[in-house]
This record gives sequence, structure tokens and C-alpha cells, in this order.
Amino acid sequence: MRKPFGVLPDGQQATLYTISQGNMIAKITDYGATLVSLIVPDPQGNLADVVLGFDDCNGYRTGDGYLGATVGRNANRVGGAAFSLNGKTVQLEANDNRNSLHSGSECYCFRLWKLEKQEESAVTFHLRSPNGDQGFPGNAEIFVRYSLEPGGVLRITYDAVSDLDTVFNLTNHSYFNLAGHDKPELAMGQILSMPARFFNADDAESIPTGELRSVAGTPMDFRTPKPIGRDIEADYDALHLQGGYDHNFEVFTDPCAILHDPVSGRTMAVSTDCPGVQFYSGNFLPGDVGKDGVVYIRRGGIALETQYYPDSVNHPEWPQPFVKAGVPYHSETKYIFQ
Ligand code: BGC
Repeated sequence: MRKPFGVLPDGQQATLYTISQGNMIAKITDYGATLVSLIVPDPQGNLADVVLGFDDCNGYRTGDGYLGATVGRNANRVGGAAFSLNGKTVQLEANDNRNSLHSGSECYCFRLWKLEKQEESAVTFHLRSPNGDQGFPGNAEIFVRYSLEPGGVLRITYDAVSDLDTVFNLTNHSYFNLAGHDKPELAMGQILSMPARFFNADDAESIPTGELRSVAGTPMDFRTPKPIGRDIEADYDALHLQGGYDHNFEVFTDPCAILHDPVSGRTMAVSTDCPGVQFYSGNFLPGDVGKDGVVYIRRGGIALETQYYPDSVNHPEWPQPFVKAGVPYHSETKYIFQ
């Protein structure tokens, strides 16, 4: 199923695709290869849309927060908006203080992707990203596939290849609220379980300092599940600096995170092949009006963005997002609902 999803300023028409599997329904737009809606049951079979989003493509174009978007070529921040690759400086756009955030204003989330294939329970989009795009070397062919699978699974698969050595670090920027996107006041009551032993300590511009800090004895410790809101105002430097949770945690186990809503009983597990997960408690959500007129207040949704560590291009000691010319990049993240 597909329907129009608004017209962009240059006259191009965006489209919304619906896929389904059992009682799960997902809606995805070609604008930004963005997850617009995800309807899942609670244990009693009551359905709710558990991701934040907008009613048409222009909401995503002008709204804040990268709701549901496919972010690339390099997700998250690059300190000083530059790094070195094969002895040459790759200069990105500084769009967040002196740094690059989500690859600048030409983020893939603001492009109209091409439909590659639509199936009943899956949809695949394709983007051609030319050499020099956003500053990155290499003509790249990029595919993102969303599929719904038995067992309550939404799988997002990323495949890409470039004709020069480059970086691929793609993620999905959905904000989840397992009570339903229209109940923003309930998001911080949701219980997070995350076995990560350490997180990246950041400076005031959210650039990693290089320190991989133990969560032990800190408000960053989710090894014992707890409501996200419980310690979010604790007197702790990392929470002050980032205005709440907005940190990369190591992916230590599979799943790397489990979110549970005590009100509806919905649970979501995150399973990924990425080395890191940015846990972001929506601290900068500005109160945009989203789907069905819902106002997405600060901390009204929870992002769990699977990716390489932020600024890993400048930290050779961490897992590296560099991909050689001609070598396929492949990454998958599953969101599993119960
Ligand atoms: C970052 C936040 C940033 C947000 C933009 C997240 O991936 O961690 O710091 O504000 O994206 O919505």
C-alpha cells in the first residue's frame, strides 16, 4: 500500500509506504527513508503507534530532532568536523558548534530516496550519494530495508558500497514511546535495561573525551533495570553536560537494550551488530507538533541509535567505521516487540 506524503519545495512528491505482518503495521516514507509509524500490540492485543513522527514530508523537513530518520553517511558527531583518511583531511560541515552532527545539513534524512522494492511486509529504498557528498570520498550506493517479521520483529538492514575508501555509519533515529507516541508524559517512566559496562564521557559539545567510563556507581548504570527518569536529574557531570542521557554505551550483549513500559506492558528489545548504542532521552525535543497534533515535549521519546562510537573516525583505538573501496558494508538492527 502506498499514498502521497506531501510535496517538497522543489515539487517532488514524497510517498508513504505501509507494510504489515500479523498485527504489526509500519509506515515508512521515501523522504529520508524514515520510519513514520509503527503499530504494535500490548500483551492484551491493544494497538498503539510507538514512534514519534510527522503527518507529512514537510514536517520532517522543517521539524527538529531527526524523528525516525535514516541518518548517514556518518551518524552522530565528528569533533572539529574533520578527520583523516588515507593521509588526507576529510572536511565535513560544522553544523553543531564546531562539529559535524549527523553529517551536516545535507544529511541523508533530508533526501528523497528511491523505492527499490515493495513487498507485503518489507520495503527497500536506494540512495546514490556522489563522491564528495557531505565531504565524504567515494560514489556510494546505499540501500535501507525495513522488514516486519514473525515474533514482533522490525528489522532494519543497511547495505552500501563505495568506489573509494570511505565511512559508512548509518543508523535509524526513531524515538520510541511504548505507551504510544501520543502519551509523551509517560516516556520517562519507561524502564530501561542495558548491560553496558561503560559509556563514552563527552565534553560540553558532546564530543567524546576519549574516556570509556565505567557505569558502576553512577546514574548511567542500567545493568539493573530502572525507569529512565529516576536518576536523570542526578548531580552527575555527564548528565549536566549533555542535559540528560545523550551518550554512547558499549554494545555488550544481545540484546543490547530492553525498554519496558509498565503502563501498557509493551517491551522492546534492541539487537544489533553495531558496537555502540546512543541512548538519547530526547532532551532537545523542542515541542514540535507531530502526528495527529500531538506536541512532542522535551523527553517525550527515547532514541536508541545503534552505530559506531561518536567521533570514532578520530579514535583509531575504537571500532572503526571505515570501509574499503568495493567492499560491501552491511549492518542490521532488530527491534523486537513483546
Ligand atoms: C544526538 C543528540 C542530538 C540529536 C538530534 C542525537 O543522535 O545524540 O545530541 O541532539 O541526535 O536530534
